[in-house]
Amino acid sequence: MILERPNCWKCEFFRISWDRKFPYKCEALGFKSQSLPCIQVMSIDGRPCQAFQVKPQSEMDERSDDSRPGIKGRETDRYV
Ligand code: SF4
Repeated sequence: MILERPNCWKCEFFRISWDRKFPYKCEALGFKSQSLPCIQVMSIDGRPCQAFQVKPQSEMDERSDDSRPGIKGRETDRYV
């Protein structure tokens, strides 16, 4: 059995915060940070995050779906 290493980008508790100084947020552990929360956990606790839960595949598919209407990241580059 291969265990997946904690990766906030694949975790259901990971959020992006509106706080510019602390743009990442872990809902499970209740903190915001400047770097990925799983890196913070490793540096403080010395162990990989124990709260990591793989995000459901449907959510990951939804975020990579390019057919949705609205402004896409690269389209905004034209107005800069
Ligand atoms: S639970 Fe762990 S892996 Fe998930 S967002 Fe929080 S720190 Fe990252």
